[in-house]
Amino acid sequence: AQEKKNHPIASGIKSSFDVNWIKKDFPILQEKVNGRPLIWLDNAATTQKPRQVIDRISYFYEHENSNIHRAAHELAARATDAYEAAREKVRAFINARSTNEVVFVRGATEAINLVAKSWGEQNLKEGDEIVVSNLEHHANIVPWQQLAAKKGVKLRVIPVDDDGQIILDEYAKLLNNRTKLVTFTQVSNALGTVTPAKQIIDLAHQVGAKTLLDGAQSVSHLKVDLQYLNADFFVFSGHKVFGPTGIGVLYGKEDLLNQIQPWQGGGNMIKDVTFEHTQFHPAPNRFEAGTGNIADAVGLGAAIDYVNFLGIDNIHHYEHQLLVYATSLLKDIPGLRLVGTAPDKASVLSFTLKGFTNDEVGQALNKNGIAVRTGHHCAQPILRRFGLESTVRPSLAFYNTCQDIDTLVESILKIQSGKN
Ligand code: PLP
Repeated sequence: AQEKKNHPIASGIKSSFDVNWIKKDFPILQEKVNGRPLIWLDNAATTQKPRQVIDRISYFYEHENSNIHRAAHELAARATDAYEAAREKVRAFINARSTNEVVFVRGATEAINLVAKSWGEQNLKEGDEIVVSNLEHHANIVPWQQLAAKKGVKLRVIPVDDDGQIILDEYAKLLNNRTKLVTFTQVSNALGTVTPAKQIIDLAHQVGAKTLLDGAQSVSHLKVDLQYLNADFFVFSGHKVFGPTGIGVLYGKEDLLNQIQPWQGGGNMIKDVTFEHTQFHPAPNRFEAGTGNIADAVGLGAAIDYVNFLGIDNIHHYEHQLLVYATSLLKDIPGLRLVGTAPDKASVLSFTLKGFTNDEVGQALNKNGIAVRTGHHCAQPILRRFGLESTVRPSLAFYNTCQDIDTLVESILKIQSGKN
């Protein structure tokens, strides 16, 4: 361990925040698992929540709880203000032009389904094409497959190279005047690849296609600027960016959202209802039928405040160094195969270990208090591209340290030596 602490990368890792101090903001990181301090390396599945988020949700239920928009009383005003303040925080966080472009949904999955089942069903017809990448999470494959089956639309897939990066030349060849949508991830949850989002979006727009960017794995690691990226739709989940589960965001360009008929009807989303006809609100309300997850939207706002407090650029810089450090140690372990070696990566280290099943590795790491995901990561097509059905997947966040990585590496070496 001493040797690793003197590793040239480890000793050079600098952060503009004090990671050990930050860890204290996360109550769950003080937990013991199997008698060891918890090392949370399952951040791609979900992130842990700082005290500030937990307290903000409690504060909501203690002082503000009400339904929103409908009532004239004080608590309705407090709840509405808190909910709309969270929407503004999201807007600023992703640099949308207007809060009208920010729709609260349950998560990235629901946001993609909303686009497929409303915009997709209303605008696509037989013979049209949707382009997805080989890197996609099932959430960005299955809704398009369902749409394709219903409408006679064709799904076309952008291949990736042996490092797990999108092959832009092959992508360009897939585009034509039948392409109506290009939908892809900004960061791969299985490999960590950061895709060239701006280039992909610009090329799609050249043939008149709309674009959907899946930000489920990106918003917690890098700055997302939607006015720069110019995606037509963008989605993310609150729970992967230190906020609660059950809340997420669909971003859509305002005029586009207002052209789409809502996919769910009910309260909140209407301007006027008679038995003959209903007039809908403009976006975002037209897509927020019924009582939404008010408290957790407020909690997501607190999570964004926390990320802003640390600074997304600081987070990006620190995590990048940590990823380089982890990669340099893991790649030297004999029998360990790293999958996903693109030069531009974030957070994720997927691997297999010769002589051991991925479950054996995951369970052995758990004995040492280390939480990683093993399995197909809801991204079977990309693992199969590499001849695999599953991997072990440690994934990093800003509260991880070089010591966490050292413990991971030591534990893998122990598994190999049979001493675990
Ligand atoms: N897209 C990507 C890239 C993901 O990693 C995930 C979750 O792992 C999703 C979409 C779906 O997110 P959720 O399950 O929060 O809806």
